[in-house]
Amino acid sequence: MTDGAKHALITGIGGQDGIYLARLLLSNGYTVAGIARHTDEIDRRLVPEKVELVAADVADRARMRELIAERQPDEIYNLASDSFGPRSWDDPLAVGETMALATVNILETIRTATPDTRFFQASSSEMFGAPAERPQRETTPLQPRTPYAAAKTYAHAMVGAYRSRFGVFCCSGILYNHESPLRRAEFVTRKITSSAAAISLGLATELRLGNLDVRRDWGFAGDYVRAMWLMLQQEKPDDYVLSAGQTHSVRDLCDIAFGEVGLDYREFVRYDDRFARPDDVEPFGDSSRAGALLGWRPSVSFRRLIQAMVAADIERLRGNEMAAIEVALKLQDETADHAAAGPQGGMIDHA
Ligand code: GDP
Repeated sequence: MTDGAKHALITGIGGQDGIYLARLLLSNGYTVAGIARHTDEIDRRLVPEKVELVAADVADRARMRELIAERQPDEIYNLASDSFGPRSWDDPLAVGETMALATVNILETIRTATPDTRFFQASSSEMFGAPAERPQRETTPLQPRTPYAAAKTYAHAMVGAYRSRFGVFCCSGILYNHESPLRRAEFVTRKITSSAAAISLGLATELRLGNLDVRRDWGFAGDYVRAMWLMLQQEKPDDYVLSAGQTHSVRDLCDIAFGEVGLDYREFVRYDDRFARPDDVEPFGDSSRAGALLGWRPSVSFRRLIQAMVAADIERLRGNEMAAIEVALKLQDETADHAAAGPQGGMIDHA
């Protein structure tokens, strides 16, 4: 860009990560463009007017090539994906197109048309499958078991290949579960916080869940987007595990969420086979490399995250959508003080 401001392009602008990242980049002085399939569905209360919206399908290779070549962005953040893993068996080919091949298309465009563009790829802890070691690191073997995880693994491998073969500045963040009040309700965090809110308001009477004892490594999305940005500000491109480094069970989650509204989850939660996953996994990440090299550490605790999610759901159910949005955005402000934080300390697993 001529005025000296850095220009960033974000795919998947409408998701929680796209929203938090766009806000972070704007506050860092960037001009930001966001790509979405249906720009009319983007909520402008979440994605500020300053963010230019571009309607495009990331699987449309010619359109994406043209868009990137024309704009010559300083940074591209590739966040577009259908992130709900279990559904990826519904259309494995589409998953491959939008998550695997679309990523290579961007890398190939950078190599041939915009070699100075830096690239961030949202990789996933699901690439580890049933993890070969615990905790997982950047070196842990990838053994994907779903179309979603396999597509992410292919894209991840190609990021490494373009880096070593062509010297493209491209990085993957291996992201563990990261949540926020903007999370969609099919994920277990929002499912539980919205149910606890609904039950407390007399709008529901029970909550049906699968395995309560499975443990996950959950963090706040606003912390993870800060790491994405940090990765592209380094001297050298590399891949990093980004995780909270603490696990909690679904039961802990219920306990905190219902506790927030003064209820005992045991009175309302029922087991339902439909939500149980026979091949469930318990990812647990070691992000100490990101701590040491990027100075990154998560700042919002699990309890604080769940509290905010319940508070936002209560506002939503009362019809105060604006107040719910405020809760979601304020939570990101709590991470700001940590932007210049020093190296991360130890790691705690409560499992
Ligand atoms: P993801 O599977 O990591 O993408 O995230 P989810 O939020 O969908 O699931 C997190 C964990 O919660 C998994 O281990 C699920 O087996 C467990 N879980 C237990 N009950 C439910 C439920 O009713 N819905 C979902 N989505 N997950 C559940």
